[in-house]
Amino acid sequence: MWDRAWRRLIQLLLPARCAGCQQLGPEVVCADCRAQLEPVGEPFCVRCGRRRLTDFASPDCGECHGESIGVVRARSLYIYAGIGRELLHQYKFNGYLGAGRFLAERLAERTAPGWPELFGEPDLKLDAVVPVPLHPRRLRQRRFNQSLLPARLLAERHGLSCLPQGLVRTRETETQVGLSAAQRRDNVRGAFSVPDTMLAELTGKRVLLVDDLMTTGATLASCARTLKRGGAAAVYGLTLFSTVQRIEPT
Ligand SMILES: [Zn+2]
Ligand SMILES: [Zn+2]
Repeated sequence: MWDRAWRRLIQLLLPARCAGCQQLGPEVVCADCRAQLEPVGEPFCVRCGRRRLTDFASPDCGECHGESIGVVRARSLYIYAGIGRELLHQYKFNGYLGAGRFLAERLAERTAPGWPELFGEPDLKLDAVVPVPLHPRRLRQRRFNQSLLPARLLAERHGLSCLPQGLVRTRETETQVGLSAAQRRDNVRGAFSVPDTMLAELTGKRVLLVDDLMTTGATLASCARTLKRGGAAAVYGLTLFSTVQRIEPT
């Protein structure tokens, strides 16, 4: 409580700086840094939504082809590199909520044309938004779940219900950084559950699962399977950032 009040006071007293380059200026993210954010863009994989580097002949990429990715399709906004990575770090690890709001707004803008346009499915309708949860201990340390802010904003803009309790993380998992794809899958297997009180709420629903970063997709896959076991009819994934295939975040 006091921590947060102090932080706010300090933010008010200090001159404003860009969250990306730390230059003094009135904007949370300056025009130069905005211009450097790299949208996923073409060519991207129609299933996992990541930028494709493989010229595999099928519409899905060489990495998710033949794999169960849990979600029907996933999409993400920016490539996790450079200024984008800096903004996410400022938000997630330094508690700079302004950077989080900036990113959530860009995600809301991207989804404004609607779900059919975003996911490439002509009649797609979604019912509810669920953020990927943190373990309660991690939540106490960080004080906020970085996925909740974009999930709330998307739900509000699209008139959907946001279900922050739709999933809970029941097992504290190691950080995924530096783990292989197979290790990541093992790391998050069985790490989530749907609380009994949410079962009625989720049954038959088409859910948008929101997270900050997709690397191998192991977390989205584990969450999506858990939601489907909890009664969800279908799950689509949406993240602020994704890595380019085979590039591990550092
Ligand atoms: Zn900047
Ligand atoms: Zn793919």
